[in-house]
Amino acid sequence: MSEAERHATPYYDIIAYPLHGNCYLNTTARCTLRCNFCPKYNRTWEVQSYDLRLHHEPDVQEVLAAVGDPTRFKEIVFCGLGEPTLRLELLLAVARALKAQGATIRVNTDGLANLVHGRDVTPELEGVVDALSISMNAQDEETYIRHCRPRKAGAFAAMLAFAGLAKRYVPSVTLTAIDGLEGVDVARCAAMAEAIGVHFRRRVLDAVG
Ligand code: SF4
Repeated sequence: MSEAERHATPYYDIIAYPLHGNCYLNTTARCTLRCNFCPKYNRTWEVQSYDLRLHHEPDVQEVLAAVGDPTRFKEIVFCGLGEPTLRLELLLAVARALKAQGATIRVNTDGLANLVHGRDVTPELEGVVDALSISMNAQDEETYIRHCRPRKAGAFAAMLAFAGLAKRYVPSVTLTAIDGLEGVDVARCAAMAEAIGVHFRRRVLDAVG
C-alpha cells in the first residue's frame, strides 16, 4: 500500500514518525497517568503536526515495518501519546529486533512499569534499552498528583524507585521535569535526580524529545 493510500484509509494510524533525526514509536494510547498538560486530555491528539490517535494497537511486525531501516535514525524512541511500558512484551520484542539491526533504543516512560506489572522489570531492559527518559514532573507527591493524576496509589515513590533500579541495567537514565508548570521546582527535581544517581533534563511544555 502506498503512503497516499494509507493516509486515505479511515483507520490510518501513525505508528512511527520522524522527528529531530530520530524515529518515534507510537504503540499504545493507554496511560497510567492522566496528566492535565497532556494534549490528549486537552482535546487534541496532535503533536508536532502528527495526529497520534491510534485506532488499534500495532503488533510487532507492524511496528518494525513502520520503522523500516532503523540505521537511518540517530535513535528509535518509544514515546507516543501513551505509556510504552504498558506493552512491555511488544516493546522488548521490537527493541531486540531493531538493536540487532544496529539501532539505539530510548524509552520515554512514566517510570511506573514496576508498579503496573507488580514486579521489577528493570533487569529485562538490560542489553535491550540504551536510554530511559523518565517523567518525574514534580519534586513532591502532592505536586505530582496534582499535575499527573495517577490512577494508582504510590505512583510518585514508585517512579523514583524505578529510576534507581533501572540505572543498574540501562546505560543512560534521565529524570525529566517540565519547566513552567505551576508549583514545579525544577532545581529541586534536578537535585533529587542527582541524589538517585541519574541524569536530569529540564523539558519544555509541548516539546517532544
Ligand atoms: S504520561 Fe504522557 S501520554 Fe500519558 S497522560 Fe501523561 S503526558 Fe499524556
